Amino acid sequence: MTKLGKKRRKKLQDKVDQISGYRSYHDGDVEVSSGKKGHGVFAARQFLPGELVIEITGQLLSKKTYEGSSYVMDLDQQWYLEPGIPAAFLNHSCSPNTELIHLTKRSLGLVAICNIEAETEITFDYQWEPCDWTPRCRCGAPNCRGWVVAKDGVETMRQLAKKTKKQK
Ligand SMILES: [Zn+2]
Repeated sequence: MTKLGKKRRKKLQDKVDQISGYRSYHDGDVEVSSGKKGHGVFAARQFLPGELVIEITGQLLSKKTYEGSSYVMDLDQQWYLEPGIPAAFLNHSCSPNTELIHLTKRSLGLVAICNIEAETEITFDYQWEPCDWTPRCRCGAPNCRGWVVAKDGVETMRQLAKKTKKQK
């Protein structure tokens, strides 16, 4: 097998997108499309505060045998939920317009915490733990924490970033 070059990879990915529509999604409520920060989930209509925006379903992974990827969500004490389409394309924001809740035994819900106009990007707060690989945040909100990290992890993250900077 030959390794895919960048150019060929892009060309083939375009083809995959065309054939499968894997990276596009549209129903009356939300749609996956390409925005400033790459793919994201956008409102296809207006949502009022407290309204359920998406039911997040996906692959259930046992916590006993799976360590968890960065995108995996906590379902309960025993299970992780690896979100499927469209939820897999949800971006983080430090000033989000939805909140993640436990909905059923097998799904999570994304609920509007403010008025969301049609065509607005749907975002929620990932609240990741501070660690080496926690990425910089580019949400652009005035209250951006600088990293994709939970509010109470910001100080730890600052210390961690200082340390890694010194090592380089
Ligand atoms: Zn941010």
